[in-house]
Amino acid sequence: MLFLEPFGVTDEGKVRANNEDALLVGEGRDETLFAVADGIGGFEAGEEASRIAIEVLNELEPGSPFQEAVREANRRILAAGRGDERLSGMGTTVVAVRFGGTTERPVAEVAHVGDSRAYLLRGGSLRPVTEDHSLVAELVRSGDLTRDQAAEHPQKNLITRALGADEEVEVDTAVLPMEAGDRILLCSDGLTDMVSEDGISLILAESPEDPEKAARGLLSAALDAGGNDNITVVVVDVREQPQPETTGTRDRRERSEERRVGKECRYRWSAY
Ligand code: MN
Repeated sequence: MLFLEPFGVTDEGKVRANNEDALLVGEGRDETLFAVADGIGGFEAGEEASRIAIEVLNELEPGSPFQEAVREANRRILAAGRGDERLSGMGTTVVAVRFGGTTERPVAEVAHVGDSRAYLLRGGSLRPVTEDHSLVAELVRSGDLTRDQAAEHPQKNLITRALGADEEVEVDTAVLPMEAGDRILLCSDGLTDMVSEDGISLILAESPEDPEKAARGLLSAALDAGGNDNITVVVVDVREQPQPETTGTRDRRERSEERRVGKECRYRWSAY
């Protein structure tokens, strides 16, 4: 049997006065759901947009359509923007992962809009799971820029898709077969703009058994590199259950609560 061990952390960084990122670390109705959203908009509008996106995912019932939840978040952000002048034009990225499938075929479903990313670390190699919806990513795909040039491009933060932009949003999805030892990373661009993929890979490799150490290590690296933006990191480890549970009568929700501290949460969940 596999179980999940997650850890999430968010930080405003060293330059921004507020944190427009938001995260979900298994504390929603579906305990296998994890997400990062990076809000866009003046004053507190960006914070509101990312908060709404996470709120909608927080309410998602296990097994409910995943893409539809992201579309619902888009509608709610648009509606909130129409109802309040200060919020008009707000938007957010979102990247979310939900674990499920069967014991024989465990999977992770990934959905995203914008440039917040998901990666899979397997067998020591870091693989991107998402493709950014950004100007520079499109130029990389068309062959007009290399990945390295894109990382240095002045318009690297210009995204071409976001929640809150249009009535309908196109949501990219992927289904990944999961195996014991896999590690999923979700992050905002406050990490990936500051730390190279090689750097991320190295930090993840330093703490294979400890998602908290991995998440904190990535955050520290982004801060050390300047912390120019809000930084959010969620690391979810997929593990083999070492032995049958012998903790007696407490159910898993009670166990999960005692390991949760504010935005940071650490608990075990028997996923399959
Ligand atoms: Mn950002």
